Amino acid sequence: MQKDLIRLLRDPILIPSEKQNLLSEIAAQAESLGMSCYVVGGFVRDLLLGQPINDLDIVVEGDAVKLGKSLVEKFGGKLTTHYKFHTAIWAIPSMFNVERSTLDLITARTETYSRPGALPTVTPSTIEDDLRRRDFTINAMAIRLDGDHFGELLDPLNGQDDLEKKIVRVLHPRSFIDDPTRIFRAVRYEQRYSFILHPSSFILINPESLTIIQALSGERIRHEFDLIFEEGNSHQMIVRLGELDVFKWIHPELPMFNSGHSDFLEMDTGLDIPASRTTMGYMLWLMDLSEAAILSIARRLSFSSDLTHSVWGASQLKKSLPFLVNSSPSIWVSALEKLPLLSIYAAYLVSGEKALLDYLSFWRHVKPRTTGDDLKARGLESGPRYGEILTRLRAAWLDGEVNSEKEEKELLNRLL
Ligand code: ATP
Repeated sequence: MQKDLIRLLRDPILIPSEKQNLLSEIAAQAESLGMSCYVVGGFVRDLLLGQPINDLDIVVEGDAVKLGKSLVEKFGGKLTTHYKFHTAIWAIPSMFNVERSTLDLITARTETYSRPGALPTVTPSTIEDDLRRRDFTINAMAIRLDGDHFGELLDPLNGQDDLEKKIVRVLHPRSFIDDPTRIFRAVRYEQRYSFILHPSSFILINPESLTIIQALSGERIRHEFDLIFEEGNSHQMIVRLGELDVFKWIHPELPMFNSGHSDFLEMDTGLDIPASRTTMGYMLWLMDLSEAAILSIARRLSFSSDLTHSVWGASQLKKSLPFLVNSSPSIWVSALEKLPLLSIYAAYLVSGEKALLDYLSFWRHVKPRTTGDDLKARGLESGPRYGEILTRLRAAWLDGEVNSEKEEKELLNRLL
């Protein structure tokens, strides 16, 4: 087994050589301090699945803050310490040439929950204990990196077996009660890898654990949805959470996800507008709700004001489309101008209204040649007339009333 793991750990397709180098320097440093050093969680899971690893979660038996300080001494970079949690974040110096910029260094620990749904209290401990505080067996494995132990698998909860059987399984019956965000996480792994939630875990998603969702902060729940919307098959995840009856414990008006919108989550706008999978996800999910429901859900999930504005904007726009259809381009532009571009794109996706695409592609870029300076040079007194004239000139271009600089000048002469 150790040999197999060493082969995987040295595979540049799974772990780029720069990252391998970083890991071996960290392990050597930990060894020199007499600490055992492990990669854990998603790293081990994805490595055993033969998939390229994304995360680097480093755990040491000893003191991660001390390890962090010695790494800074030897290689430079900056350390942010969290003494309460015995963790440190190392801003990795550029010499390592890794694409990620920071690395979490964690001290092996146990966790206790003062009450269901609360954040845990943390005490330094052994790697075994650290694995036992985790969410699922497939995430509760570690690979040791220091010295001759390089490539040793620690799997006290038979995660490898579950990985082979394609099973997501919690570590103990109170797991979802201690932390119901694990319900979201279970669904994410289940759908991401096409695994199944083991029946013994599935039955633990019941009113006793679901009710604790009410005690979770908006940020924590929204974070789970944010992670979901980053996934390739987020639609199935949201649908599955709906099937598990999760939504009503978050907010009574949270709807099922409209399956007809699922393809739009994967859309590449192909336009020069800032795209965000998460924002698009929330817009597609919530846009058919009433304004009051959207604002209430936004409060419960602690949406940023930008996100609230985007979802609200998409919803308002969709509802006003029947009144805008067949309007002139300048009317469309005045209706759309204040809305986030992504909200307009979302409304376009669900409605297919061509004017929205025309706005995003062309109309929003149309400007008159005349500027405020030109108006000043022509002796116009400062005041609201500036805006009115420029808007009027823009509308004339948009609606085909003027088609050349000469025609614009003629119109301007008439207006002044
Ligand atoms: P992903 O590919 O989704 O990022 P990951 O395993 O890297 O997977 P993280 O959210 O980065 O996921 O968490 C790192 C590790 O921390 C997990 O593998 C798991 O062992 C542990 N963990 C994360 N969240 C929880 C939780 N709510 N309860 C218990 N353990 C958790």
